[in-house]
Amino acid sequence: MAKFSLFFTFIVIISSVFGDEYHNHKTKSLRKTSKAFNEAEKTTEYWVSQGQDKLKELVNRKYNNNNAKNVIFFLGDGMSITTISAARTLLGGEEKNLYFDNFPYTGYSKTYCVDAQVADSACTATAYLTGVKNNYETIGITAKAKVQDCDAHVNKELWTESIVRWAQKTCKATGIVTTTRITHASPAGAYAHTVERDWENDFEVSNNKCDADKVDDIAEQLIYNIEGKNLNGKDLIEEWKSARGSKASYIWNNIQLKAIDYENTDYILGLFEHDHMKYNKDVVANNLGNSEPTLSEMTEAAIKMLQKEENGYFLFIEGGMIDQAHHYNYAQLALDETDQFQKAIEVAHKMTNNDETLIVVTADHSHVFTYNGYPPRGSPIFEAVEISDVDDLPYTTLSYANGPGYEFMFDTNGNRKNPATFDFKNYKLQYPATVPLSKETHGGEDVAVYATGPMAHLFNGHYEQNTIPLIMAYILKVGPYAVDEKCTSCATMPILILTLVMILIVKLLK
Ligand SMILES: [Zn+2]
Repeated sequence: MAKFSLFFTFIVIISSVFGDEYHNHKTKSLRKTSKAFNEAEKTTEYWVSQGQDKLKELVNRKYNNNNAKNVIFFLGDGMSITTISAARTLLGGEEKNLYFDNFPYTGYSKTYCVDAQVADSACTATAYLTGVKNNYETIGITAKAKVQDCDAHVNKELWTESIVRWAQKTCKATGIVTTTRITHASPAGAYAHTVERDWENDFEVSNNKCDADKVDDIAEQLIYNIEGKNLNGKDLIEEWKSARGSKASYIWNNIQLKAIDYENTDYILGLFEHDHMKYNKDVVANNLGNSEPTLSEMTEAAIKMLQKEENGYFLFIEGGMIDQAHHYNYAQLALDETDQFQKAIEVAHKMTNNDETLIVVTADHSHVFTYNGYPPRGSPIFEAVEISDVDDLPYTTLSYANGPGYEFMFDTNGNRKNPATFDFKNYKLQYPATVPLSKETHGGEDVAVYATGPMAHLFNGHYEQNTIPLIMAYILKVGPYAVDEKCTSCATMPILILTLVMILIVKLLK
């Protein structure tokens, strides 16, 4: 004990002699002075009154104890807290808020899956849509099912049921909107049961030595799960149209989306790309707005459709390209896609009534993305601002722990490259990564949950990710909390899906 105290005293003396070596923000920087954002920030009054305004809002906040008629669930794929903080600077400064930053209630969700420390989008989709944690790479099936186990895939006793199905059973309208392939892991969590997320088409099923006649791929499940048919090899889009009747509309571009006759349309299948949709910046740069809608435009169309259902609705909206951009170390695109995502949330919030519509915003998992150094306030976030006191080279404020950006971190001799030579105007610049990997990985820490509307306060605190759909179900009175499930034949319920499936196109060509 005595030794311990001596050691502690020694440390204190050392640090008082040499200063705080851990937070040395007096090292060299390419930008020494902070941009003055607001002169008032230099005063006590500014900060105290700003804090007091927030406190007043908190003290006067009233719980909204209504049940929700509608739920809109926004999922920013890979939208880590670092991503959120960095994206705020795109709005004009560190002090700005993304639209959902203003939601009254927040919580944290733990994202690990049953057999993995760091989750993928398949096991997390199962957690946040069906209320059950399961194994990495599997969707809508319990952890008793091992990955790529053909027999487990078809064992319905292992299937978990999603909140989309729960809502349909209580006669609510449902919709799925995503910027990825509609058969990709996150949206698949709404309707599919599979032991392998890559079984988006029957080629992949056969490739893994399962019988594609018995094992339905994800695209088939999208179209047929509702009616329980097995129609391998058929034209899925035509099958969807004929099953839905004259009020079903299949669209594939933004002009058609804008021309929807909502009064005479009950079902929409919108597939706007042959793979994931394009990054927003690519759509803008190549003037492709007539072919690809923005996430906000898809959100608006989905809400207009679903609002027709007097029993209410459940709508799942995914900003899927945040994750894709991070995997390539495209930091600028990840933040731009986050901006697109928050704009869609603003559209949804302004189109709906806070007294009857619960809006929940979260991410499935984090990424190994950092926002680092001690750059002065208002520094350009995408540039190299600070200078290392070890190799005397500048370093970027944004970087990754791993990924293809390794190439931009070190030269062939293992020396760090000088980021001052990078083309920061190129939005597809790959940000430096420490460990070389062909694709950057997810991160294992918690993600944030934001909520507004009926009983949004229930999302406060810290919980396992699979709690989220159970809270939504409680507030919406569906699933385990349903009073009456009158619509067990789900085929009659409107389902609206906006995005694209390469797999469906593949089937058409067969
Ligand atoms: Zn991912």
